[in-house]
Amino acid sequence: MTTATITSYLSEHRERHLEELKDLLSVPSVSALPAHNADTLRAAEWMSESLRKLGMENVALHPTIGHPIVYGDWLHAGEDKPTVLIYGHYDVQPVDPLHLWDTPPFEPAIRDERIYARGASDDKGQTFMHIKALEAVLATTGTLPFNFKFCIEGEEEVGSPNLPAFIEQNKKLLAADVVVVSDTSMIEEDKPTICYGLRGMCGFQLDVKGPKRDLHSGLYGGAVANPIHAVVELLGSFHDGDGVVTVDGFYDKVVPLTVEEKAAFEAIGFDEAVVKEEVGVQEFYGEKGYSFYERTWVRPTLEINGVYGGFQGDGIKTVLPSEAHAKITCRLVPDQDPDEILALLQEHVTMHKPAGVEVTVSLFDKGAPFVTPFNHPAIQAASRAFEKVWEVPTTFTRGGGSLPIVSTLDEVLQAPIVLMGFGLPSDNVHAPNENFKLKNFDKGLLTLCAYWEELAAALDVE
Ligand SMILES: [Zn+2]
Repeated sequence: MTTATITSYLSEHRERHLEELKDLLSVPSVSALPAHNADTLRAAEWMSESLRKLGMENVALHPTIGHPIVYGDWLHAGEDKPTVLIYGHYDVQPVDPLHLWDTPPFEPAIRDERIYARGASDDKGQTFMHIKALEAVLATTGTLPFNFKFCIEGEEEVGSPNLPAFIEQNKKLLAADVVVVSDTSMIEEDKPTICYGLRGMCGFQLDVKGPKRDLHSGLYGGAVANPIHAVVELLGSFHDGDGVVTVDGFYDKVVPLTVEEKAAFEAIGFDEAVVKEEVGVQEFYGEKGYSFYERTWVRPTLEINGVYGGFQGDGIKTVLPSEAHAKITCRLVPDQDPDEILALLQEHVTMHKPAGVEVTVSLFDKGAPFVTPFNHPAIQAASRAFEKVWEVPTTFTRGGGSLPIVSTLDEVLQAPIVLMGFGLPSDNVHAPNENFKLKNFDKGLLTLCAYWEELAAALDVE
């Protein structure tokens, strides 16, 4: 495969590709709204038809109790060749407030070198690009360097309720050596970005119970424990004065950054003044010796998200409340295990429980952190593909938040995950006037084609 033939194929077929994309974007597959169930199904069928045309086999809509999952594969590279799984989603966010759209969300329109429509960036446009990149490789070389599988779901925008069970039940069907997901953004325009890790999460609620009813603070204050005092004492016990979490064993499994990763984060550049202004604080806070990106991407946290109890009205009320509550979440990093951390937190609460109150801990949903090693060939090949097409160094990031589907793919399939996103912060995803920049569409297609070539070289596939 040569870059020149791919480039000319893509430019020759660009008009048709854009027409096809418009066709896909005109289907209002809003997964959250039952009124759009037939449309959402139509988008699934559109995807499967498109996979069939591409030459994928075993194309099927796998039913779930919600929207179906589209699967298709091409396994003709041979059993000895690696397999790549491409994940995407064909469902979109609701469109309201509708009056803020300059053109209707399901009547795709091209203006200012962008294509406007719900799903243009998230994620129909980016999923479509994967299909078209493989079309270009197949058309110009007659073959593909790897076995390919597609898994395109229709419930990402409602939290992927049925995907984990599907992956779990179809481990063999989906088994892959590399998983590629294009559902994220570049850090800014012309800065191709690879996010190679995300934090996990676990959360719990503290319920502190004191006297069986609210008491008069004049009659009982000083002699009966106040649950709010107890909550404050407990909450205060989670950190020391330097922002370090004091829960025993909390940091035991945290993997330190490598020298290469530190250098990659430093290369991004961080304008402290801009971010301070943006969030409205005079100074940052956090663990000593770590940069902003390190604190938010690769260090775990324990955050108190809410505290409530007692009298909240105007003026004062001399009450000794009967209960108080707090909600707490932790952001976790590799190799912390959410269950182990929850056990440590429970132990901490038991050890620090103030006298005179009862404390219960209830656990919330949790998700494991994920990282594909920075030096993994699948990550470094992606970086080279970006650099080839964009002609600037690739930016490496990690995310402070969590993407539940990614941790499920990571945990069940045990394959490196490459997040190659072509969106931009200006794409207005989940908002009115969602759009996708055509430059990113064009260069993104080239990048994906270049990636298969770079990855083949990295994995030593002829
Ligand atoms: Zn998405």
